[in-house]
Amino acid sequence: MAKKIIVAGSVGLDQGMVNQDALHVISKLQQNGYSAYIVGGAVRDLLLGRQPKDFDIATSAHPEKIRRIFGRNSMIIGRRFKIVHVYFEHLDEARSLKYGRPHYERHIIEVSTFRSDKVHEHALSDEGRILVDNNYGTIDEDAFRRDFTVNALYYDHFAEVIIDYHGGINDISNRLIRVIGNPYERYLEDPVRILRAIRLSEKLGLTVDENTYINFRNVKNLLLNESKGRLFEEMLKIMVSGNAVNIVRELNELGLPRRVFALFDKLFFNGHNDEFALKILERSDLRIATGEDLSITFILGGLIWPAIYKSWQERLKESNHPRQALIDAIGQNRNLVFNSGITRNLYAAMREIWMLQVDFDLPNVAKLEHVVNNSRFRQGWHLYRLRHDFLQVDPQIFNWWNQFMESGDEEKTDLLVELVDIAPHEPKKRKKRRKSRRKKSVVNHQFSEQ
Ligand code: ATP
Ligand code: MG
Repeated sequence: MAKKIIVAGSVGLDQGMVNQDALHVISKLQQNGYSAYIVGGAVRDLLLGRQPKDFDIATSAHPEKIRRIFGRNSMIIGRRFKIVHVYFEHLDEARSLKYGRPHYERHIIEVSTFRSDKVHEHALSDEGRILVDNNYGTIDEDAFRRDFTVNALYYDHFAEVIIDYHGGINDISNRLIRVIGNPYERYLEDPVRILRAIRLSEKLGLTVDENTYINFRNVKNLLLNESKGRLFEEMLKIMVSGNAVNIVRELNELGLPRRVFALFDKLFFNGHNDEFALKILERSDLRIATGEDLSITFILGGLIWPAIYKSWQERLKESNHPRQALIDAIGQNRNLVFNSGITRNLYAAMREIWMLQVDFDLPNVAKLEHVVNNSRFRQGWHLYRLRHDFLQVDPQIFNWWNQFMESGDEEKTDLLVELVDIAPHEPKKRKKRRKSRRKKSVVNHQFSEQ
């Protein structure tokens, strides 16, 4: 495909949507004699009229040079491929006003050096997958290394041009996701591109090109070789895409091998259709549509809740200690959590949301202040409300909480009095009686004497 240079204004790119920090980075790099462009998802989103979530920059400067230009405000991040983070700080006026002191928001611009398309043979696995990747190259080599034509557009704001190596502009106007090069080979190099194609097509309302799609089936099993961490990152991106319900549906239709997404296997794939978990995804999609923020902890906690609730109910048949039964139920589902790649920190936060459910189910005047001050209280409340929709909670207690959440301080006092009458009591755990060794031996001795 021939390289094309297109005037940015002629394809409807709204220059007002371009981030100022990104422009600062580009102009500094260009002043130092390097070429630098906004690249990837940002150009694609701008051309689709969407506000990009982040602005990545590709440049001819090597990481050490970039670092020299931006000094202490930058850092080299090593991964498979070295990139540089350039840091900016902005005064957040709304938060500053709220907290009565200046509050700064950090913004990161990711800068990467053009990659070479020459991957050394020793850097490939037997299946042709890229293992080591630190060769710098030219812009046209870099363009070939990218996954889809719509992700291989380079935008120079100051020259007001877009460079299009693989027909990405055309594909954007035809609303197509198309792999650059031979699809089969490109998936062998990196099978995660399958997941990316499905996610981006649903998120952006694009169609996956037929040739791009057909090859998914031949290579999807290779996803099993991916690290848990990378698959977990992909799963998070699906959850916050704003179109999670449809992406999950598409993945189910494609039929992923088991264990790629252990959590989705249990909830949505292989004939499963968990209504509660589906609701969690629907609500997240809705929140994105209305511009509200999302908590990964809440989403994951909500998705796993049905499994925990089921174990909890089973345990409650034999135990009259709801709190202990919930702790055990959570423990019982540890494998599901860790097989999904969830980190320990996230798990600890999710546990808080789950454990709060006992405090909602069995509100206790003495503990109330402690419960309300829990940093996960609001998220616990969201989960509790959803449980109410699924008939998992006592309606009378739910009404009480609803009033409590909406009332002022004075009414709250009345509600606390009322609570004493309506709340079921959480059975106290029997304290283990401590017997001193000496006494015990006396008892034994007495018995043995009898
Ligand atoms: P999102 O809107 O989710 O951020 P994105 O396309 O920007 O989508 P990123 O993960 O931010 O996705 O990647 C930035 C760019 O890097 C992509 O647009 C693409 O050009 C390139 N890229 C990312 N992942 C791959 C991959 N697996 N193979 C080839 N190129 C990739
Ligand atoms: Mg991006």
